[in-house]
Amino acid sequence: MRAADESGTPLLLVGGGSNLVVSDEGFPGTVVHIATSGIRLNADACSGATVTVAAGEGWDDLVAHAVDQGWLGVEALSGIPGSVGATPIQNVGAYGQEVADTVACVRCWDRVGRAYRTFSVAECGFGYRTSRFKEDPGHFVVLEVTFQFRMGDLAEPVEYGELARSLGVPLGQRVPARAVRESVLALRRRKGMVLDGSDHDTWSAGSFFTNPVLDAGQAADLPEDAPRWELPDGSVKTSAAWLIEQAGIAKGHRSGAARISSKHPLALTNSGGATTADLLCLAREVRDRVGERFGIELVNEPVTVGCRL
Ligand SMILES: Cc1cc2nc3c(=O)[nH]c(=O)nc-3n(C[C@H](O)[C@H](O)[C@H](O)COP(=O)(O)OP(=O)(O)OC[C@H]3O[C@@H](n4cnc5c(N)ncnc54)[C@H](O)[C@@H]3O)c2cc1C
Repeated sequence: MRAADESGTPLLLVGGGSNLVVSDEGFPGTVVHIATSGIRLNADACSGATVTVAAGEGWDDLVAHAVDQGWLGVEALSGIPGSVGATPIQNVGAYGQEVADTVACVRCWDRVGRAYRTFSVAECGFGYRTSRFKEDPGHFVVLEVTFQFRMGDLAEPVEYGELARSLGVPLGQRVPARAVRESVLALRRRKGMVLDGSDHDTWSAGSFFTNPVLDAGQAADLPEDAPRWELPDGSVKTSAAWLIEQAGIAKGHRSGAARISSKHPLALTNSGGATTADLLCLAREVRDRVGERFGIELVNEPVTVGCRL
């Protein structure tokens, strides 16, 4: 990376590549695949486990290992593809958890200052599907992530309705972390969010749009039956999937070889032979129809490389 930066060669960092939409023309520069490995347990006491993980480790392998070890706080993030080093970039989250809940610090290479830097969780600028790393692309390379896990058998109380229903428990109940992992993996499979080479519904970059966060005025204009989650700062998050379906775009809707998954309205999939241009054409149609119907602009979650929505 240093050599590329010193010679002014454009650089693209890739972990698992699961959150990238790359232009059909490719990337005119050097692509670095981060494949470092290693998990270091720094402290293991009744107060919890402090664990430092190399950026190139697989995220779901870490979650499986954490559940085996009784390290709590990431079990609901089971089945998210990609590397550990990419998780702080967009503060990955699902089913009521996000990595910001367990990250203690992130060690980086600063490509501008040409120095190693370690950011505490408070310095990472974590927000909904964002962080200082996402806001300032190309500046920092994540080398290691240190997590602070609580230890035990029972996960935090289940606060996510869909997960509680699938576990068959009331909201607020605590269940073993292993049961949370299994339930989340089953839910993900049902939504086509676990890659299966024979099922085109799973050929996606996950959710293509983030859930819009609205101010109080915009939220008041939403139809009464729209899903809404009040956030601590008074803003309101609503469901991109709901907006898409209400804008008249059904599951299975296609534009060329790009198709909305038949299992999940937020997954834009490749039904075989789709190009990035096809995918973006479908994504623009979805964005524009939601914009016309609700005046809300959907924002893409995957990182676009050499192309834009
Ligand atoms: C089926 C499916 C389901 C998904 N479900 C979820 C979900 O539930 N919740 C969620 O939050 N996300 C989800 N995602 C998105 C994706 O899995 C996550 O964003 C994941 O963290 C991306 O990891 P990656 O290693 O594949 O990153 P990549 O796609 O390789 O990279 C993503 C971005 O991070 C940068 N990057 C990668 N590694 C580093 C590093 N070490 N240092 C600095 N920059 C780096 C890349 O340059 C790029 O900008 C899903 C994706 C898919 C395909």
